[in-house]
Amino acid sequence: MDDIERLHEMIAGATRMVAFTGAGISTESGIPDFRSPGGIWTKYQPIYFDDFMSSDEMRREAWRRKFATDATMQQAEPNAGHRALAKLVEQGKMTAIITQNIDGLHQRSGVPDQKIIELHGNTTYATCLDCGQRYELAPIRKAFEGKGELPICEKCDGILKTATISFGQAMPEIQMARAQDETMGCDLFIVLGSSLVVYPAAGFPQIARRKGAKLVILNRDPTDQDDKADLVIHGEIGPTMSRVVGVN
Ligand code: NAD
Ligand code: ZN
Repeated sequence: MDDIERLHEMIAGATRMVAFTGAGISTESGIPDFRSPGGIWTKYQPIYFDDFMSSDEMRREAWRRKFATDATMQQAEPNAGHRALAKLVEQGKMTAIITQNIDGLHQRSGVPDQKIIELHGNTTYATCLDCGQRYELAPIRKAFEGKGELPICEKCDGILKTATISFGQAMPEIQMARAQDETMGCDLFIVLGSSLVVYPAAGFPQIARRKGAKLVILNRDPTDQDDKADLVIHGEIGPTMSRVVGVN
């Protein structure tokens, strides 16, 4: 039996699956990941949350980067990997997609919001860091690029930031608790496209395993947790999942 057949059988035998996705599931949609050659880290150093908060210049740099890369994000469409997971959710096999991604592509592939757990937030809109008010990006961009204005909250004068979790920023409590529940309740946990080095997110596969779930890692490159998985496939997500689930 080859790896595709093994994964197919594991999915057939599972009653409650959880997917855990990282930047690698979106590279086939044209969004670069962080750690592959040519990835985002080869161009930019991350901006830590405290620096964003304490320095106008860092906030300016963060918004500059955001808008410099936004066209790629906006033009991206879900790919076969996203569609395969959407199908498993629709079939009632997969109860949740825990994602580290911030691109909104799982939502756009048709997965209902309540099945998606965003551990690192979402970069397709902004929020006020004080009162949580949501803001769309287009007017922020216009004021930033036109008048050099840094966005502040109309309601409370708080600082606005894309609704993502930066390094050094607290993890979202509700999403972390939901991810924990889903992970502990599943019988098959599938990692797709994550180097599994960003904690606490990368801790979930081992939580699943300790609770008795089978662990599958599908990633182009080896990860630190490969030796702890029941099945490891080093391959491309879209083509692999198309064959496993039967989507185009
Ligand atoms: P990462 O960049 O550390 O790792 C991505 C992994 O995916 C790599 O190991 C690579 O081998 C693999 N990969 C890339 N393309 C693949 C493909 N087509 N098929 C199979 N494997 C593939 O990403 P990470 O583990 O998600 O951690 C980085 C952090 O960066 C995350 O927290 C996430 O929030 C953020 N991020 C998000 C996006 C996005 O939303 N699309 C993009 C870049 C970074
Ligand atoms: Zn506010």
